[in-house]
This record gives sequence, structure tokens and C-alpha cells, in this order.
Amino acid sequence: MKSFRNTISVSSNRCENIDVVTKQKCNRQLMIEESREFCFRCEEIAKEDLAIKNQSEELIKNREINELLDTFKSDILINEDLQEATFENYIPETSSQKKALQIARDYVRNFNKKNGLIMAGRTGVGNSHLSVSISKEIIKRKHTCLFISIPRLMTAIKGTYRKDNERNWIS
Ligand SMILES: [Zn+2]
Repeated sequence: MKSFRNTISVSSNRCENIDVVTKQKCNRQLMIEESREFCFRCEEIAKEDLAIKNQSEELIKNREINELLDTFKSDILINEDLQEATFENYIPETSSQKKALQIARDYVRNFNKKNGLIMAGRTGVGNSHLSVSISKEIIKRKHTCLFISIPRLMTAIKGTYRKDNERNWIS
């Protein structure tokens, strides 16, 4: 808190900073604190500038992530109810589902491009739900993700063979 600052005295020098608004020299009387000269006004502005910069960076980051998530949703090749799938709305009913959720969360937490995760199980136990949830979390870390079913994947591969015999969809 400012009131607890060490002895502050008034300097004989004036602030040479250029005011961003007036484009004139600040020209305020400088202060001295522990042999450091500073302009009270400019120092406050610098703090505010930094706060605004951090805020706008956070906004940009969130916007980029939202755009990636939107792209993921529009490219998603599964039924609509799974598009809303997240870890939070995955309700494990059995102990193995509980374990699967934990493994999926751990996989995201320790995600690196080298490690894969294979989930196996009969239809309807939540493999897709967890896969989509994993994808979304990884997108939030600015990686590109694709969710595709094996039949769709096969169709996509076959489709490219017909065109120019190159698997150009991969690149
Ligand atoms: Zn100043």
C-alpha cells in the first residue's frame, strides 16, 4: 500500500516522459524513493497499461480458443448430442467408467503429441463422449483435433484414392 512506502521526497527534476494523450512532456515533479526517481502519475499509467494489455491478451486467447472450438464443432462428424460432450457432463455409472474418466483427464493433463490413448468398450458406455471431451480440452491448449469414426475415416481415405491417388486429405 502506498501509505506504507518508505520515505518519499520531492526531487528537483521533472518528468521527461511524453504523455500519450497530449503528446507533451509530462513535466510533473519527480519523487525520490530509496534513491530512485519516479513520476507518480506515469508509474500509475504504466500499471494501468500493463493491466489493459494483459486483459486484451486474455481476450484474444479466449477468442482464438472459441474459434478453434467452433471449427471443431462444425467439422465434427458425429451426432449432435455429442457436440456438447465435456468431462463435466460425463456421468460415470460404473467403476470402470469412473476409471475411464480419470484416465481421460490424466491423459489431457499430461498431454504430449507422442503418447496415444486407446479406449475400447462396447457401444454406449461413453467412449465417444470421453473422446470428444479430450479433444475439446486439447483444443483449449491450441492443438488441432479431429474426431472421426472409423467408417468415416475409411470413406475419406477411399474418396481420395478415386481423385488423384494421393492421400491429400492428410496434409
Ligand atoms: Zn510523468
